[in-house]
Amino acid sequence: MKLLIINSGSSSIKYQLLAMEKEAVLASGLVERIGEAMGLIKCTFYPDTPEEHKKSREEPIANHKEGMLKVIDLLCDPKDGIIADTREINGIGHRVVHGGEDFHQPTLITNEVVAAIEKNIPLAPLHNPPNLDGIRVARELFPQAPQVAIFDTAFHQSMPARAFLYALPRELYEKQRVRRYGFHGTSHAYVAAECAKMLGKPLDDCNLVTVHLGNGSSMTAIENGKSVDTSLGMTPLEGLVMGTRCGDVDPALHLFLQQNLGMELPDIDRMLNKESGLKGLCGMNDLRDIHKAVAGGDQWAQHALSVLCYRNRKYLASFLAVLGQVDAIAFTAGIGENDPVVRAESLRGLHNFGIVLDQQLNEARSRTARCISAEASKIKIFVIPTNEELAIARQTARLISG
Ligand code: ADP
Repeated sequence: MKLLIINSGSSSIKYQLLAMEKEAVLASGLVERIGEAMGLIKCTFYPDTPEEHKKSREEPIANHKEGMLKVIDLLCDPKDGIIADTREINGIGHRVVHGGEDFHQPTLITNEVVAAIEKNIPLAPLHNPPNLDGIRVARELFPQAPQVAIFDTAFHQSMPARAFLYALPRELYEKQRVRRYGFHGTSHAYVAAECAKMLGKPLDDCNLVTVHLGNGSSMTAIENGKSVDTSLGMTPLEGLVMGTRCGDVDPALHLFLQQNLGMELPDIDRMLNKESGLKGLCGMNDLRDIHKAVAGGDQWAQHALSVLCYRNRKYLASFLAVLGQVDAIAFTAGIGENDPVVRAESLRGLHNFGIVLDQQLNEARSRTARCISAEASKIKIFVIPTNEELAIARQTARLISG
């Protein structure tokens, strides 16, 4: 079974073609700068194998349909493509950011499903429209292939009301569906399943805290395999400190900025999403640059690192309280997988909670899933590389093969 996984953004399409028998990636790539003067199409064939080779082309790409057609050209190139015809593709998995309260699981795409994703646009105005572009184009260009929507919010639909309700006038929930939804669900669900394998017990018996630290970051409390609380909220702005997003702030900040600096709401929104977080504190949003600056004595880089790790620790301890008993904590994504300093600082001083890191294991570099806790640690600490494309592909395969 060959599956195409599509993550369609406002000016980009990320894609991966997988052969599901061996879960092998046949091709992986990106269409960038759609709608700009010059676009870019990149493809890596058979990545991480001896046959790996890359191709890229620079040319204008007017819209998502043109971008997808160029991907098809590359995949079906008679000289060195890897499929003869688009009909070889047995199914398509689409990443969709916001499923609202309508979607609790991967869903076969029909006209009704498209309408429901449209209905949720007010909850994710920047994400759902380009996701829908990808779906429309793929339905047109691959009419024979069943298409599946995988929602970032779906895994968190198991949260109880006490975790998803905000203490606001209830009409806001009843009429506008203002509530916590949570995101990165595909990653948290994938990491939780891998955690269960490493613990050697069924996922349904596992209590976990999964810590996804990338450009966007979130933490999830998982009870008996189900999400019961998560740090991202109605939008992907709440919670942890992120690359350019602030995470938790006092909601009265908006009024202060408006009254004292004359800022308009769209400016405030842009500032909180794009100019805050690590970047806001120290001007850099890549942890590798921040570590270099810290080593050079940059005080605000040190503040940025400290605020990030302190917030992680606060959330972690609150999720330990939510769960009571925890089998494992798992770090994932760019920072979680690669940054031993952030992991150590985020767990510092938690010995009394049964959390003890093995310093050497924490610092050892590896790209595979591993345990980094000391023997004495009651709660296991894992690093588990996330793989959202594979998670989407597995769910797509499960759904279309019934
Ligand atoms: P996204 O949320 O965009 O998918 P990633 O999960 O790829 O992001 O994470 C990107 C971030 O991971 C970078 O901004 C950087 O801070 C961090 N990162 C990546 N590699 C390393 C590394 N080797 N050491 C420390 N941090 C890293």
